[in-house]
Amino acid sequence: MRVADAIVVGGGPAGSTCAWKLREAGLEVLLLDREAFPRVKLCAGWVTPEALTDLELEPDDLPVGLVTFDELELHWKMFTSSPRSRQYSIRRVEFDDFLLRRADVVVLQHRVQSIRRNGGDYVIDDKFRCRYLVGAGGTRCPVYRTFFHERNPRRSALQTATWEQEFAYDWKDASCHLWFFDDGLPGYAWYVPKDNGYINVGLGGMADQLKRKGGRIREYWSKFADKLKKSGLVDYNDYRPAGYSYFLRGSGDIVSDRNAYIVGDSVGLATHDMCEGIGPAIRSGLLAANSIVSGAEYSLDGIGRFSGSGWASRLLGRRFAGAQ
Ligand SMILES: Cc1cc2nc3c(=O)[nH]c(=O)nc-3n(C[C@H](O)[C@H](O)[C@H](O)COP(=O)(O)OP(=O)(O)OC[C@H]3O[C@@H](n4cnc5c(N)ncnc54)[C@H](O)[C@@H]3O)c2cc1C
Repeated sequence: MRVADAIVVGGGPAGSTCAWKLREAGLEVLLLDREAFPRVKLCAGWVTPEALTDLELEPDDLPVGLVTFDELELHWKMFTSSPRSRQYSIRRVEFDDFLLRRADVVVLQHRVQSIRRNGGDYVIDDKFRCRYLVGAGGTRCPVYRTFFHERNPRRSALQTATWEQEFAYDWKDASCHLWFFDDGLPGYAWYVPKDNGYINVGLGGMADQLKRKGGRIREYWSKFADKLKKSGLVDYNDYRPAGYSYFLRGSGDIVSDRNAYIVGDSVGLATHDMCEGIGPAIRSGLLAANSIVSGAEYSLDGIGRFSGSGWASRLLGRRFAGAQ
């Protein structure tokens, strides 16, 4: 049996951030991920300045490709607005690998299946044992499933359905474009240029609303691909998009139980207006680590429900998540 002070399940931004801070505080940390890093993670890769600040990183410190946007191109029907706002894009395959290496903890490729309590400890698959257990395994996190699912169920009204593809493309337009509610999509579509000649295009919406409308995401995708072509942004004929689902922040706040904690998508923390999940994942990893190290309560109070602060954010949040 391999023993550590803390075991973190999942090496995305939530898990690597938590592991980093636990190791800095002197705990022996083992991180288990079912995938070998660098691994592909479906994600548009939009990162906010606040998330980099939480990671104690300056944009220039990042040894991974970064594109900086000083404004966003927001489209709704015939209208376009270009609010000034500094934001960044990264490729998750590089970003997550960098964060995990920076955490400087032992990482093992292992798909966690069963977890049980034993005395004051946790035993994973009869192979690993720890005092503190952190569930950072994303939407299907086994720690969430085992200890939190019943007491903190995620609400289906807050579930997103997304489709996207990232590929090498010699993009010409260096702006980040977002199209809201096109063709009745209960969400938005995006065009996000990445460094070193990559691009990420995709769309997402609220799964329940999509189902009610009877629209299939595949149909929205083909209209979106047409739009990209007609607008001259992307002329590409080999789309093979893939899908993933995650949850916006709900009202359940049971995120720790004895010495087990859940962070990031395993809780479901994405913002109600922009469905931003990376920043909340990082922040929750920091808060959980602080709770383990200092004994402070682990609470989600320091994690915002919105990416923006104005009326447009509230309006979008209401449209996506309803009055939650
Ligand atoms: C299409 C799409 C676009 C998005 N775009 C953005 C965006 O532009 N900006 C933004 O802020 N957010 C975006 N998000 C949301 C964001 O990707 C997530 O909120 C974020 O990755 C959550 O991080 P995490 O560390 O909680 O989980 P993840 O990044 O999902 O990491 C979970 C890790 O756990 C591992 N794992 C899972 N199960 C097990 C197991 N049983 N045993 C061991 N390991 C396991 C996985 O391999 C994975 O490495 C997007 C999401 C999608 C699907």
